[in-house]
Amino acid sequence: MKNYKKLAFLFLLTTFPAFAQGYKPLAGLNIMLDPGHGGADPGAVGRLGLKESDTNLRVARYLRMLLEHDGANVTLTRETPDKTTSLAQRVAMSNKAMPDLFISIHHNASLNPNPTNHSEIYYKSVDSGVSKYVGEHLNNGLYDAKYAGDSVIIPAGFYVLRNNNAPAILTEGSYISIPDSEKQLRSGKGLTKEAEILWRSIRKAYEKGAFKIDLYAGPEEKLVMDSPYFNILFTANKAVKTVNARVDNVKLGNLGVKSIMAYPMTYSLYNTHPLRSGEYEISISAESVDGIPAPCKKVNLVVALPIKKVEMAPVAPYIPMGFKGRFPIDIKIFDEQNHINTRSALAKLSYGKKVSEILTDASGITTAFIELEGTETKEVKVKLSVEGSNEVEVNVPIVMPIQRFVLGKLSGFNNSPLAGAKIKHNDKTIARTNENGFFYFAYPLTTNEFTIDVQPRFGHNNLVHTIKTYGEPVILPLLNAEPIAPALYNKKLAVMAKEQLNDMSRNLIKPLVYAGAKVTRLSMPPTMEHPEYQAVLEANLIKDLNFVISLKTENIKNIQIRHYHSSKNGKKLADAVKATFNESYPDIAVKSCAGSDYELGHTGATAIVIAIPAQPDEKTREALINHLSQALKSNN
Ligand SMILES: [Zn+2]
Repeated sequence: MKNYKKLAFLFLLTTFPAFAQGYKPLAGLNIMLDPGHGGADPGAVGRLGLKESDTNLRVARYLRMLLEHDGANVTLTRETPDKTTSLAQRVAMSNKAMPDLFISIHHNASLNPNPTNHSEIYYKSVDSGVSKYVGEHLNNGLYDAKYAGDSVIIPAGFYVLRNNNAPAILTEGSYISIPDSEKQLRSGKGLTKEAEILWRSIRKAYEKGAFKIDLYAGPEEKLVMDSPYFNILFTANKAVKTVNARVDNVKLGNLGVKSIMAYPMTYSLYNTHPLRSGEYEISISAESVDGIPAPCKKVNLVVALPIKKVEMAPVAPYIPMGFKGRFPIDIKIFDEQNHINTRSALAKLSYGKKVSEILTDASGITTAFIELEGTETKEVKVKLSVEGSNEVEVNVPIVMPIQRFVLGKLSGFNNSPLAGAKIKHNDKTIARTNENGFFYFAYPLTTNEFTIDVQPRFGHNNLVHTIKTYGEPVILPLLNAEPIAPALYNKKLAVMAKEQLNDMSRNLIKPLVYAGAKVTRLSMPPTMEHPEYQAVLEANLIKDLNFVISLKTENIKNIQIRHYHSSKNGKKLADAVKATFNESYPDIAVKSCAGSDYELGHTGATAIVIAIPAQPDEKTREALINHLSQALKSNN
């Protein structure tokens, strides 16, 4: 009907005056919209049968129209209802395109039969710049429009946010599991309204224009320096108010920034605290004078400080006459700041007529070897120079052993060398393993059986080894220590607990550290309204975190061990703790179940919550902690 069409056009004109004027406030902005779920995964399904995946796609499609009309460049991670797209695929698309903004669109469901409808905006918690800024606008938009009642904004670590390099937000517009809300979404009225609110909020966030910075990192996109101080040149499209830099997720202090007077909007960022040698990824974030954050930019920096000093020492004080094979020499390198050198360097080792080139360890301490024929006499002259440093020389004497000569190596988990282990005989420390697991000691030739007690620093069981000889003067034992808990060795674990539970968390952490785990105690500032947000943010700054253990007291009757509803590993660990505890304490009730605790779903780690009845019962707590650490150790 003609009249109807005319009416619709008039309506558009009055509602969206911007279209009529051809004003493009979002011109140049790249936005990726991610309709959650799809294909084999319908997401939440309402009681009347509405699929979340379809609703998400409809909102995204309409939102795309609105944003494109404003001049934005919009891409969708999924265009059709039937396409199954994994979370990893979505993130890969974003990390490849690096949009100015990534928005994942979802609708909520609750296990609670009578939830109160509301909106939730989640932003990538490690980005308090654009992700938070735009997230706040979306939250305010939904709240002001009373779209689903209340609206809350939550820092988050969902997969598509946590692994996204672009500023990223996830919206849960309303609850599809609430029939009234489902009806709204099904009618089209709700989702139209939702898309328009999101659009208006994005528009508002960018009404003063987007703020962007560009780094100049040289033609190789990498800064290589032989000084501990860097200068990073960047340009901005607005005047800069503040600049922050992080290195490997640690905030860099002592930064200076200055504008280069002759060139408008050109700045130089520099550090005033020296850096050690190594490779760094520096993330730079900035805010403009009109209060707009810029998307964070990264630059790779290589600091290669000149080598100043080299030290060299043979692992044993002499070479036994006739020794054939590889004889270890320790090399220690210092940089011009007199620090142990922390990058690998090319070293030249020469002895007799042989020359070998070695790439030294980034730890700064390397065990190099000289190859001996067994025919050498008197001494072996060893010379070393590293990257043109002054040559150092040691003469290792060759002597007929007057004592039993023991040169050994200790390895542990996965055959990795164990440093710093004590070698004891009759309770006296007679040697310690070096950085690469080598050790030396001597004992009288008249002794035919010599027992040593090997005590690794942590993560491995002690071992007792008896050297039996039949007259041979040189012994080269290769020892292997058993890891205390292979499932935990070198694994990264984070523990969160309020201050009241300090004793309990200490009791948990101690055996785990002893078993070789790397444990971080997350902070839960008592003054914060949501201390768990801070704790999880810290957890998300730990690279490749394996486990999160949250301890809390609650007004409950029985102990509860909770996991994320969709985490198989979380459920397995929770069940294991319950099982080992039940075995020893069949009369104490423990429940293992899915939970909605914030910390369960926002890290990539296997997470469990241990909730204990508030009434203190020290014995039960202690036993629970014991069994928790047992379960972690035998987890696989
Ligand atoms: Zn969803």
